Amino acid sequence: MNRVALAALTLSLGPGLPASAQTTSDLPLVWVLSTGGTISGRGATSTSLADYKSGALLGEELGSAVPEIQAVARVKVEQIANISSTDITVAHWLSLAKRINSIFQSDPSTAGVVITHGTNTIEETAYFLNLTVKHDRPVVLVGSMRPASAISADGPLNLLNAVRTAVSKEARGKGVLVVLNDEINGARDVTKTNTYRVETFRAGELGLLGYASRQWRVT
Ligand code: ASP
Repeated sequence: MNRVALAALTLSLGPGLPASAQTTSDLPLVWVLSTGGTISGRGATSTSLADYKSGALLGEELGSAVPEIQAVARVKVEQIANISSTDITVAHWLSLAKRINSIFQSDPSTAGVVITHGTNTIEETAYFLNLTVKHDRPVVLVGSMRPASAISADGPLNLLNAVRTAVSKEARGKGVLVVLNDEINGARDVTKTNTYRVETFRAGELGLLGYASRQWRVT
């Protein structure tokens, strides 16, 4: 990949089409493979930002909590695991890689794959998949820094942005991507830099690949 071009790239994920302009069957298909993490976490109260159980919600529940996705893609959800990402093993990596390769191979209509994942090891899983998924359609890992039960939970918008990235033609051929905090980073370079801040994922001097933050409307 050309690093200069990548550094300059801003994925312009244009305004969402009005829901009325598209029927559901026209929409691209995105598979969401769920593995757990804070994005599926629940705490005792809305201010339990650091004390919660990862993997308390299923992928289906995460998806249905974000109805805005229905204006962007048809989604099929599959639960791969529901654990903290500190418990992700090589066996999970192999299952994910095989499943993604099989989805892309058997279903050419799939626009992309989103993986919900804990942030502690999201970069390791992303890196592994970057080496083992043999297709150019987007594979987007997404997590959150606040549990689903938190005030100002970041997971729902992160998930919407991940699906929008997965259906974007501009995201093709860029390798596996990590989307949080409106930012799109490449698996090869991204690392988690802070335990609590939402702006934690950084790619050092190489920088991020783009933003998934453009204003859009669903009418
Ligand atoms: N403990 C969480 C994990 O599953 C942290 C997170 O998701 O942000 O990695």
